[in-house]
Amino acid sequence: MQILEIRHLFKFFGGLAANADVSFSVEKGMIMGLIGPNGSGKTTLFNCITGYYPPSKGEVVFKGQRLHGLQPDRVCKLGMARTWQKVRPLAKLNVLDNVMVGALARTNSLKVARQAAMEQLELVRMAHRAAMLAGGLSIGERNKLEVSRGLATRPELLLLDEVMGGLNPAESDEIIQLILEIKARGFTQIVIEHDMKAIMRISDRIVCLNTGEKLAEGSPQEIVHNPDVITAYLGDAQVA
Ligand code: ADP
Ligand code: MG
Repeated sequence: MQILEIRHLFKFFGGLAANADVSFSVEKGMIMGLIGPNGSGKTTLFNCITGYYPPSKGEVVFKGQRLHGLQPDRVCKLGMARTWQKVRPLAKLNVLDNVMVGALARTNSLKVARQAAMEQLELVRMAHRAAMLAGGLSIGERNKLEVSRGLATRPELLLLDEVMGGLNPAESDEIIQLILEIKARGFTQIVIEHDMKAIMRISDRIVCLNTGEKLAEGSPQEIVHNPDVITAYLGDAQVA
């Protein structure tokens, strides 16, 4: 079953087409990898999907419903959550309160939100950090906090924007395991990531953007051997 469909989506910033005629769909339960060079429009596409920007043209259909014009909080209530490439926790709140902000999208009860937030912190193995100020976390921990805050909104679709950026191999590996665990729990995910080894490992399918357009879509094996993707993004070295 399709959970998300993007139909001929364009996003213009002045004369620049940050997204140009992008179409693809995402099946429930899968991990869709989203790759492409810097500036190819990946984050802009997340912004258009989640309601932070209205698309200039085209449609985003989530669970059969057209999202055009819906604000991010409405889109969130429909069951979508995202992380930010530029992670910005509420630095002066503690970790638990940061995740509660997500949980409060679903309940007015602080007690219920606190419990939901704690469950998500346990999932990302950050429960021991609950009382710490978010501003004091390492980059890896901030990224996990972002994921748990997203999960606390009880999404069906989770969009992760470079959650492995700036991490060491051990930390990346932990995030990969976490993404696979989230998949095993039945969530659908779209994952933007530059680490090709990681994206190959976790993705069921991959879309590659280049200068705002969809350059290719396919299985990880198809993508890594696609001549256009190699030229635009991977370079010869990575497939040798
Ligand atoms: P990626 O995430 O693939 O690195 P982005 O989606 O961030 O790429 O950016 C795509 C293009 O759109 C870039 O040229 C970027 O400078 C431009 N862009 C993104 N957001 C804005 C904005 N709010 N205003 C103007 N230009 C933007
Ligand atoms: Mg980006």
